[in-house]
Amino acid sequence: MTSFDLLIRAPRAIMPEGERAVSIGVTSGRIVWIGAFDAPGSAREAVTLDSDSVLLPGLVDSHVHICEPGNTDWEGFLTATRAAAAGGITTLVDMPLDSVPTTVTLEALAAKRVAADGQCHVDVGFWGGAIPSNLADLPKLHAAGVLGFKSFLCDTGTDDFPGISPEHMQSVMRVVSGLGTIFIVHAESAEASANMHAVSTRHYRDYLASRPKGIENLSIAQVVEAARATGARAHILHLSSADALPMIASAIADGVRLSVETCPHYLALSAEDIGDGETAAKVGPPIREDSNRERLWAGIADGTLDMIVSDHSPCTPDMKALDTGDFGAAWGGISSLQLGLPVVWSEARRRGYWLADVVRWMAERPAALAGLLHKGRLAVGGDADFAVFAPDEEFIVDPARLHHRHPVTPYAGKSLSGVVRETLLRGRRIEPFGRPRGELIARDGVRVIEQTHELKRSA
Ligand SMILES: [Zn+2]
Repeated sequence: MTSFDLLIRAPRAIMPEGERAVSIGVTSGRIVWIGAFDAPGSAREAVTLDSDSVLLPGLVDSHVHICEPGNTDWEGFLTATRAAAAGGITTLVDMPLDSVPTTVTLEALAAKRVAADGQCHVDVGFWGGAIPSNLADLPKLHAAGVLGFKSFLCDTGTDDFPGISPEHMQSVMRVVSGLGTIFIVHAESAEASANMHAVSTRHYRDYLASRPKGIENLSIAQVVEAARATGARAHILHLSSADALPMIASAIADGVRLSVETCPHYLALSAEDIGDGETAAKVGPPIREDSNRERLWAGIADGTLDMIVSDHSPCTPDMKALDTGDFGAAWGGISSLQLGLPVVWSEARRRGYWLADVVRWMAERPAALAGLLHKGRLAVGGDADFAVFAPDEEFIVDPARLHHRHPVTPYAGKSLSGVVRETLLRGRRIEPFGRPRGELIARDGVRVIEQTHELKRSA
C-alpha cells in the first residue's frame, strides 16, 4: 500500500463538487490521492479532523497591497503573509503600487522579489502595472512571470503609478491580449472625478457624496467597450457600485470577456452604520448605502459577481487621520487579510449560503483569475494547501490579535462566525512565528526562485 507524507481524514471537506467526508493523501507537498473518509491508507503523519471543523482549500487572495520595499512601515511581506495565514489564505497576489518602486519594469519586479524572498508565510505572486509610459515593458514583465497587468483609470495620488486614459487602455488591452494574459483595472473615471470637489469632513455621508456611483459606472462602461473592441480579457477590481451590475451582465451575455470582484467591506458594512470620524472605514471606491449592499449580494446570487477578495490596503495609523476623523485627509484603504473569511462567512451564512459557495468566491475563482490552476481547490495534482475552519465558532474582533502591521480595522468589536484553526501550505502547518516557507510564484513555466537567487547573488 502507498504510504503518504500526510494523510488527512476530514468528516467535512469542501471539494469542487461540494461538501463531503474524505481522506486526502499528500506527498511532496501535493495532493496525490483522495478517497473515502474510512478508506485504508497509511502515512508518516495521519490527522483526523473534528466533526466541528471543515477542511477548505487554502484561500487565494488576488488583491493585496504589500508596500515593501519602500513603504514597509505601512505593511511588509512578513506581517502581511502572517496575517494571511491566520486568515486561512495560502496564496496571495501583490498589487503593483504602494511600494517603491512600483512594479512597472523588470528591475522593479526584481526588487519586489528580492524584498519578499524568505519572508513569506504563504505563496506570493505579482501583478505587473501598466502606466502611460511602459507599454514596451509589458512583454518583459510577462516573460518574467507576472500574472497579468493592472491599471488605474483615475489619479492614484502617486506620481510613480499614473492612471491611464480610456484611449491608452485600448493599447494596453491589445498588448495584454497578445500575450494571452489578463488586464485588471481600478475602474473609477478621472473625468467624472474631476467634477467633484475634495472634502474635509467628519461626516461619512459627505465623503460618500464626493464619490458617487457615476464615477465607477462611467469608467466600467469604458472598460466594457474597450474589452469588446479589443477582445481582451478584462477584470473589474473592487466593484462597489451595484448600478454597474446590469451593464456588466449585459456585456457578459454579449460575449465580452469580463469578470468582476467585490470585497468583504462592501458586502458587510454600510454607509448608514459608519459614524462621524470613523475613518478606519474609508476606502476607495467607498462603502455605499445598505440598499446598494443588498444589490451587490443580488449580483452574487445571480452570478454576475465572480469573486470576493480583500483589497488589503494598509497604511500607518497616522495616515488614517484617526485623531481628526477627517474623511478627506484619511488614507483610503482597509486591511482585512486576516478577517476576510469570517466577515464573508458571517454575512453569507445568514443569507442561506454554504461554505462551498464561499470557497468558490474566495479560493477557486481568484486562483483561476490569476491562472493558478494548482491552487484554490482540493483536487489530485493540486498543491496541498488547506485551511481548517470551525464555521460555528464565534469570536469578537480584537485588534490586538491581528497580525497586520497596523491593527486599524473597521471590524473592531464586531462578533463574527468562523475561526481558522490551522493553515497548511504544501502539506505543512504554517507556524506564525516559525521560518517562513512560502514561495514566490509566477505564471506556469516561469521559474522565479532561480531568478531571485541569481539577483541576490549579483547584488
Ligand atoms: Zn487595491
